Amino acid sequence: CGIVGYVGTRKVVPILLAGLRKLEYRGYDSAGLVYYQDGALIRQRAQGKLSRLEAAVDHCIGANSTIGLGHTRWATHGAPTEVNAHPHCDCTGELVVVHNGIIENFNALKSGLLARGHRLRSETDTEVLAHLIEEHLETDLVAAVRAALAQVEGSYALAVLWARAPDLLVAARNQSPLVLGVDGDSGYLASDVPALLPYTREVVFLDDGELAVLRRGSFQALQIADGQEVAKKPVSIDWTA
Ligand code: GLU
Repeated sequence: CGIVGYVGTRKVVPILLAGLRKLEYRGYDSAGLVYYQDGALIRQRAQGKLSRLEAAVDHCIGANSTIGLGHTRWATHGAPTEVNAHPHCDCTGELVVVHNGIIENFNALKSGLLARGHRLRSETDTEVLAHLIEEHLETDLVAAVRAALAQVEGSYALAVLWARAPDLLVAARNQSPLVLGVDGDSGYLASDVPALLPYTREVVFLDDGELAVLRRGSFQALQIADGQEVAKKPVSIDWTA
């Protein structure tokens, strides 16, 4: 399973697909991606091999998009179907989440969301994250992600894209790996270093309990719990993938 993300000035779709290929070794049963284009999020998902996702993606529609997320899924909650493949949306369809890991208190969170009128479309634990963030979201995506994660128990590497803030990606980690890279106007995130090596050798490893805000050519790391900024040291990777 794996996560990739990009925000910058380059065409995002080939970057996402290449990144997912580099993470194939981690194993997966389905895959998906989302990108922002002309005011909307465009999502594509496929059961099975990455080649099926690649065949489903329309490179013409996505040709000018420069921000997006990709995911390979190893199902823990819900069968490996297209409906259960990530990214998952909130009720509005304007917020998307990709996630690796397991939300341990998913049953309690899901019951609460259903009681409060949310409609969930998949059987995954991940989808509750999108709806929890939605409940906290007014204008500040980082604050909403932090508030949602305060309710969550379990392991996660996750990344979020919101159509109303299409210049940033928010990512967070607890017990699942996540690494960031910045090169010129480009910001990258991935589950593992090989997905970043074609673009940069200077990477930043997110630690448990940390959240990253990734923008064109910059990133900031914060503690999820208190929102305090964390000074992160880039690591130079000197091996080849
Ligand atoms: N628990 C999530 C799901 O079943 C994420 C699985 C993963 O790590 O890929 O969709």
